[in-house]
Amino acid sequence: MKKWNLVIDVDLCNNCANCQLATMDEYARNDFPGYSDRAPDSGAPWIQIERIDRGQGTHVDVTYVPQMCNHCDAAPCGAGRDPAVQKRSDGIVLLVPELARGRTDLVEKCPYGAIHWNEQARVPQLWNFDAHLLDAGWQQPRCAHACPTGAMAAHRCSDEEMTALALQEKLQPVSGTLDTRPRVYYKNLFRRTSRFIAATLVGERHGVLECLKGVQVKLILGTSTVQEAVTDCFGDFKFDRLPAHDEVYGLLAELDGFHSLSISAALQQSGLNLGELKLQCTHA
Ligand code: SF4
Ligand code: SF4
Repeated sequence: MKKWNLVIDVDLCNNCANCQLATMDEYARNDFPGYSDRAPDSGAPWIQIERIDRGQGTHVDVTYVPQMCNHCDAAPCGAGRDPAVQKRSDGIVLLVPELARGRTDLVEKCPYGAIHWNEQARVPQLWNFDAHLLDAGWQQPRCAHACPTGAMAAHRCSDEEMTALALQEKLQPVSGTLDTRPRVYYKNLFRRTSRFIAATLVGERHGVLECLKGVQVKLILGTSTVQEAVTDCFGDFKFDRLPAHDEVYGLLAELDGFHSLSISAALQQSGLNLGELKLQCTHA
């Protein structure tokens, strides 16, 4: 049985909001009997884009994580158990308007906040994967179709094929703690869940500063080297994908002709910029 899944690569998302707008456009003033009532005139916030900032100053990265109904296979909202929340054989979750009308309680049942109350129609609603379009032969929902960077893509495949793809591409669900078996997967989610340490290495030779390219830098925890990096042409380096808990690391930078540099860094936030680190020339 082939089922629908959505993969979102957060590395490619630039927060253009086309996915949001395309979905709003699809449901504004449009009823789709058997699938969904029209969205509120004020717009349907069924796709939300979370922004995550890491780092400071010259070493910052910003990540955008579009979020919507995950079409969970073990759905706390009652999909497949509550007649108002239909779980289709192709994996898609639908809120049946006729049965869900007046059911404000459903809004609270989704731990992802993906069920929205439409006061105008007095009905709870969610992003339903644009099931009416897929049933009409579309290969992608409006959001993926409108995405200019290819950050979103729907995959219709067996669960076994999806599990293999998730392993191969290192895909993750949006939550590391909720075990609801989502059908929306994320790539490069480490940008949201992990920490980094970054800095810029400069060399001082006879009072003159220069960017140091090609310096080997080691990140040390206890007595083990946990990562190695090489500075780029600006002298920048970055250790990413570090666990999201407080830790004190050691950094060691070595380059022929310069004294080695060894410092410790207390990582207590999502991104730590150590600023400019100076290596002194041995002949200075
Ligand atoms: S359309 Fe694509 S790039 Fe734009 S916000 Fe949505 S996922 Fe990100
Ligand atoms: S994301 Fe929420 S509304 Fe969607 S299937 Fe999962 S529990 Fe239900």
